[in-house]
Amino acid sequence: YPLLERVAARARAAPDATAITDAINGIDASYARLAADVLRLAQRLAAADARTEGLREARVALLVDKGYLAALGLLAIWAAGGLVVPVLSSLPLPEQAYLVNTADCALILVDKNNRTRAEQLVAQKDEGESLKIMEVEVADLVEEVGDAADVLQALAPIDGEARAMMLFTSGTTGRPKGAVTRHSSLAAQVSSTVQAWRWTESDNLLHILPLNHLHGIAVGLLPTLWAGASVELWDKFDADKVWARWINGAEKAPITMFFFVPTGYSRLIAAHRAMTPEQQAEASAASAKLRLQVSGSAPLPVSVKSAWENGIGGGQVILERYGMTETGLIAGTGWENEKRVKGCVGFAFPGMEIRLWDPVENVVITGRDVPGDIEVRGPQVTKEYWRNPEATTKEFRDGWFRTGDVGIYSGATGEEGMLKILGRASVDIIKSGGEKLSAVEIERAILELPGMKDVAVVGIPDEEWGQIVGAVIVTEGEQVELKTLRDQLRSELAAYKLPRRLKVLDAIPRNGMGKVQKKLIVEREFS
Ligand code: ATP
Ligand code: MG
Repeated sequence: YPLLERVAARARAAPDATAITDAINGIDASYARLAADVLRLAQRLAAADARTEGLREARVALLVDKGYLAALGLLAIWAAGGLVVPVLSSLPLPEQAYLVNTADCALILVDKNNRTRAEQLVAQKDEGESLKIMEVEVADLVEEVGDAADVLQALAPIDGEARAMMLFTSGTTGRPKGAVTRHSSLAAQVSSTVQAWRWTESDNLLHILPLNHLHGIAVGLLPTLWAGASVELWDKFDADKVWARWINGAEKAPITMFFFVPTGYSRLIAAHRAMTPEQQAEASAASAKLRLQVSGSAPLPVSVKSAWENGIGGGQVILERYGMTETGLIAGTGWENEKRVKGCVGFAFPGMEIRLWDPVENVVITGRDVPGDIEVRGPQVTKEYWRNPEATTKEFRDGWFRTGDVGIYSGATGEEGMLKILGRASVDIIKSGGEKLSAVEIERAILELPGMKDVAVVGIPDEEWGQIVGAVIVTEGEQVELKTLRDQLRSELAAYKLPRRLKVLDAIPRNGMGKVQKKLIVEREFS
């Protein structure tokens, strides 16, 4: 399995090169140490289970706080032949139990902090595998291992078609589904990202994303290790600390890459606005020095991207990418700054094919500016949902995976052939009086209005129209009336797209990945 081989190769070529800086626990792990720790933990894991010849796809829940052990645990479970099921330690017990029971885990790998929780999970385990606990502390793994890199490389190769990881979708449209990635598709996702973003050994990624989703694992952590680069792990996002860390490149290794969700960039902008002019200049200059800043997981508001480019980010142009749990990264705006067009997610990732499907005519859409269902194909795409054949049959169709998102190939000047996301077919495409409206497009227009901080547009069930457009907004303090909002939007949007209902809120409900919880908004605000 190529990822472990690459870690081993890096450990041999540059044993002292930093792999992981765990800023949470104060651990600095070189590639040599990482290789040795992976091996030691893998041996323990293999011994902990009665199966012969390694874990053989036994589901191993990885329930540890964010830090070095979370990263190490992934690699060690793979080295032992297991199928890793990352479980976020901050989730409430019932949600963790749902993951562990759905995956039918045989083992939970925990740190001391999560021991009690693991015992509760064992008590709640339903039929299937009997669940065992294995507790590990990084400090226990210290005894010397001679040539770990050689041993690691010599491990019996795992079939590329063996199942590697089960990641649960964010549950935006229903209950989270377990998408099972094979070693081959995971390697394809990771290498495609390394290639697209020209990742090198000298990169150092500031990593503040949770390690239980695609974004944190297969976009942030694994490409770092694949490239032989370094990653610095934080567990909390604090905008002032991020600015300070970018500035502080002299004492510590400079940060070269930063990935986050759109709401983080908004918070960085707010923190920047609260600085003195001297601090602002210093912060923006530090941002300009990064090699790459990326946003993904939810649409990046045009206003955020503009503010960043026009001063705050030091002229840095945020790269926006689009991906999902089942596929890895699908598309991203281009390498050259002028290809990072606002409101677009750009071009297909290396190895990925994208087509737009017309579900009414059942044909592939070839024209520009015609919306269609986004379907994708490529070695990166996972092949199944765990023990959910109905969903697997429904979403994976003749070699193409149906993303559930609606997109358009833009033909507008300067955006030639770039993919634009119009939203999710189920919650963002509002069907009103025979028209299909994109909530994302209406949100963009609203966010451009002065004094507007955040917005979500939803379809509200309506007897006459099918659905009508509802908006919830967060303003900088003003009360906004529906009529005023409609008047302000008239020059931007056709009359039938104007909101018919409005609520001003203190905050838009989002999940940890910055995704708006639209079903909740409809239920809570408009029913
Ligand atoms: P579920 O499948 O359980 O409903 P989910 O689709 O939110 O949840 P994820 O796989 O984490 O779970 O998220 C993928 C989705 O996130 C995509 O299908 C898309 O709707 C959205 N997304 C990701 N990146 C972007 C982006 N740059 N712009 C717009 N939407 C994005
Ligand atoms: Mg989804």
